[in-house]
Amino acid sequence: MAVRKLHNWHYIVLAAIVIIPASYFLYGLYQNSETVQRQPESVSQANPAQLDPQPALPELTISDDSSVLRLINAEHRLAPEYVPSDLALPDVSLDSRNPESQLRLRADAAQALERMFAAAKEEEDLDLQLASGYRPYSTQEAIYNSAGGENQTLVAVPGGSEHQSGLAADIKREDFVCRLEECFGNQPEGIWSAGNAHRFGYILRYPEGKEDITGISYEAWHFRYVGEELAKILHDENLTLEEYYQRQVQ
Ligand code: ZN
Repeated sequence: MAVRKLHNWHYIVLAAIVIIPASYFLYGLYQNSETVQRQPESVSQANPAQLDPQPALPELTISDDSSVLRLINAEHRLAPEYVPSDLALPDVSLDSRNPESQLRLRADAAQALERMFAAAKEEEDLDLQLASGYRPYSTQEAIYNSAGGENQTLVAVPGGSEHQSGLAADIKREDFVCRLEECFGNQPEGIWSAGNAHRFGYILRYPEGKEDITGISYEAWHFRYVGEELAKILHDENLTLEEYYQRQVQ
C-alpha cells in the first residue's frame, strides 16, 4: 500500500516536471509566431505617413519682384525700377494695335501662352490673340494719370499692375469683338480661356463677383501666370490671389 502511494506521488512529480516546462516552451513558440505574423501589419500601418508626407503648398511672396509667385496689387506694389530680365515675344497671334515691346512676356509665361493658344485651336478651333503683355512702370503711370488717377478704379496704380511683371496677358479674339471688354467673358474664346487657363499655369485674375477682394473691376480678358501647381489650386478652389494670400498668412 505504502509502495503504491509512493509510486502515485512519483508520477505526479514526474508529470509536473515534464508538462510545466513543455507548456512554457509551447507558449513561447506561440508568442514568437504571433510576433512574426504581426510584424508586417505594424510596418504597413506606419508606412503611409512615412511615404506620403503632406506636400508643401506654393507660397506667395510680397517682396521678391522677380518671383512668379509675387502677389501684385495696390497694397503690394512692384518697385518702379523693376524690369523682368527674361522678356520674350511669344510665338502667338499678336494684336497689331500694340507695339511688340508691350506684347512681350517672361519666358515661362510666353511658352505657357503658346501651349494654351495651341490647345484652344486644337480642342475647340478657337483663335486667340495676345492684346497686351509687359508694360513698363512709366507707361502704367501715364495711363493711370490720364484715366483720372486716384479718382477712378478701372486702371491699376503704378507698380500695382501685373503687366509690369511680364506675367500678365490680356487675351482677345482674333477680330476686335469685345476687345478688353466684359463681354469677352461670354464669347467662346473667353469661356474657354476662363475654364482652361489653369492647365497652362494661368488664372483669370480679376473674376466677376470678387471685385471687393481684388480691388479691380471684372476683367474677363486679363490672365496672370502663376505656374501650373498654384493655378490648379486657385481654379479648383475658386480663390483669388488675395484670398490665397490671406489663408497663407493666417
Ligand atoms: Zn491686363
